[in-house]
Amino acid sequence: PGAAPAYDTHPGLHDRHRAVMPEWLSLYYDRPIELVHGEGRHVWDSEGRRYLDFFGGILTTMTAHALPEVTKAVSEQAGRLIHSSTLYLNRSMVELAERVSALSGIPDARVFFTTSGTEANDAALLLATTFRGSNQILAMRNSYHGRSFSTVGITGNRSWSPTSLSPLQTLYVHGGVRGSGPFAELSDAAFIEACVEDLRDMLGQGARGPAALIAEPVQGVGGFTAPPDGLYAAFREVLAEHGVLWISDEVQTGWGRTGEHFWGWQAHAAAGPPDMLTFAKGIGNGMSIGGVVARAEVMNCLDGNSISTFGGSPITMAAGNANLAYLLEHDLQGNARRVGGLLIERLRAASAGLDVVVEVRGRGLMIGIELDGPRAAARVLELAREEGLLIGKGGLTGSALRIAPPLSLTVAEAEEGAAVLERALRRAESEHGGTERGASEHGGRG
Ligand code: PMP
Repeated sequence: PGAAPAYDTHPGLHDRHRAVMPEWLSLYYDRPIELVHGEGRHVWDSEGRRYLDFFGGILTTMTAHALPEVTKAVSEQAGRLIHSSTLYLNRSMVELAERVSALSGIPDARVFFTTSGTEANDAALLLATTFRGSNQILAMRNSYHGRSFSTVGITGNRSWSPTSLSPLQTLYVHGGVRGSGPFAELSDAAFIEACVEDLRDMLGQGARGPAALIAEPVQGVGGFTAPPDGLYAAFREVLAEHGVLWISDEVQTGWGRTGEHFWGWQAHAAAGPPDMLTFAKGIGNGMSIGGVVARAEVMNCLDGNSISTFGGSPITMAAGNANLAYLLEHDLQGNARRVGGLLIERLRAASAGLDVVVEVRGRGLMIGIELDGPRAAARVLELAREEGLLIGKGGLTGSALRIAPPLSLTVAEAEEGAAVLERALRRAESEHGGTERGASEHGGRG
């Protein structure tokens, strides 16, 4: 990629941001970046610096920045009609719903479009609680499901759950991260068995029982941690005995990002499809699309009307259709598997012998590097930025690095990013000496 067109710089923008935006709207980096341009897997800031994007705009850029197919579809629609209402027929919304319904794996699936992942999960909660006549929800420890009043109430990661005044009664189930407690040393099979027993105990308690279990197949904000394959298949059996629904939050794991599977739930395939799945982020390649897919009986359980003014707007649907078609035609799931596989191997080799790295984990282009503390993670984030690489962080204590590039990442770009990370990790190792285990700090950015 060449130089980006010249853009105006905005000195003092950070101070202006601080003066008018909420304090809890946190920004990455000591000197936050203003992104003004993107092409392929690269973005440019307002000072003309180019970055290799290993965080895909927090996973919103699923295929590539400025994908010509998406830009064309959006500008053609913008030239015809910018308008939104689900009160009129909308061909591109019906087309995307047909595609998503067929891809979902859920039989007789219905699709409802929203504008964000939060709203998608909110809709799933509305459906599940109504369908089951219960306001109890099972969620996973360390989970993240959104920022609205109800989704904050099912978010297990405490640093992302800024109020406890939820209208829902949430019970947190084991199985997300093992932590350093009694689960730490168990084999995968023993861990699954222990979590299933824990779930059984919980379900034995209530007369009516919970409406649903909601879970991210790989915890995103939680630091790209996944339970052993098959956990949700085992959960599903127990849930089914009690009529409890299973909602798979695929906001980060959907559309082939994990390489091996199109959806995260498929790593637990014996479980069959979930009753509902929710999606957002990457499907619009930066345009705001979210949604919930549910089997018809569940989707149609509402008595009254429910509508989203901007959900399914023609302009976002045009982006979604073009983006999904590109993803499927170019087998970006296969690319995520191949290039992601190389990248994770390369990062494991780079981390060998470094005390600062606790674990390199993940699948496809969803790779987490657990460091020995949040200070090391913050430092590596800064060092990578200095060398022109954007990555994310997260995890239980903010000590995980998150790598989630656009799914069209090339082998050469993977090598380039891995080399930057290797240097940054080595430097963090020599500065920190791997001594901060157990230190706690505010978690990473969603
Ligand atoms: N679910 C998961 C798994 C997420 O990672 C996020 C966003 N980080 C959300 C839901 C919320 O999505 P949004 O920010 O679009 O509301």
